[in-house]
Amino acid sequence: MIIDTHAHITDVKFDVDREVVIQNAFNLGVEIIFEVACESSYWDKALEFLKRDNIFASFGIHPNDVLKTTHEDFDKLKILVQNKKCIALGEIGLDYHYDSSIENINFQKELFIKQIDIANKYNKPIIIHCRDAYEDTIGVLEEYKFAPKGVVHCFSGNLEQAKIFVKSGFLLGIGGILTYNKSDKLKQVVFETDISNLLCETDCPYLAPQKYRGQRNEPSYIIETLREIAKIKKMLFSEVAQVMTQNALKLFNVY
Ligand SMILES: [Zn+2]
Repeated sequence: MIIDTHAHITDVKFDVDREVVIQNAFNLGVEIIFEVACESSYWDKALEFLKRDNIFASFGIHPNDVLKTTHEDFDKLKILVQNKKCIALGEIGLDYHYDSSIENINFQKELFIKQIDIANKYNKPIIIHCRDAYEDTIGVLEEYKFAPKGVVHCFSGNLEQAKIFVKSGFLLGIGGILTYNKSDKLKQVVFETDISNLLCETDCPYLAPQKYRGQRNEPSYIIETLREIAKIKKMLFSEVAQVMTQNALKLFNVY
């Protein structure tokens, strides 16, 4: 069994052929898809998806949306996380890529902490988005020791940062970047990290693996990343898929 632990199937890029993409993934061995709805405008669409078998969702407010977030969004989020098919809160976190002004950083931290509080209250793991902000993300998690556990999605930090996250109980989400020719640093992280601390994801429609690079990513392409992990870990593909699935089911309390 294979799980895509991080997909954005509600994205407009799938509007033309969403059903085909989902069926294709299920036909190729992906049995469960975790939809990550991290923009309030996608929440209703994701909620609609939860009526289907084998699709679960995470709800949250992405750090890049900090300025357009309203009180109503928070009220709605608190209701959404109580849905029995909501597996996590996310993706939430810090992203200094587009705006690293002190003002924006402070707003993002506030939003991040507020959502950590919600996750705690409703006992959900968190899916962390972290871009150009590894030190501060670690700082927030160290300061809020009560923060729930979860996954650092699409991990692309260094080995030292990987070790800190793992030590604080987080899994590392490994996506298509691992298959890129120049991703030696990430390959090293995967090599050094115990497989029980890894999760596999696509982050589709973004970050298609090397074989499909530049194209729209899809849940079925997770196979490429699983293959790469198997190569690095010198394990069988089926073994890697099995461990990754167990890690995901355990972290997100599915079944
Ligand atoms: Zn994502």
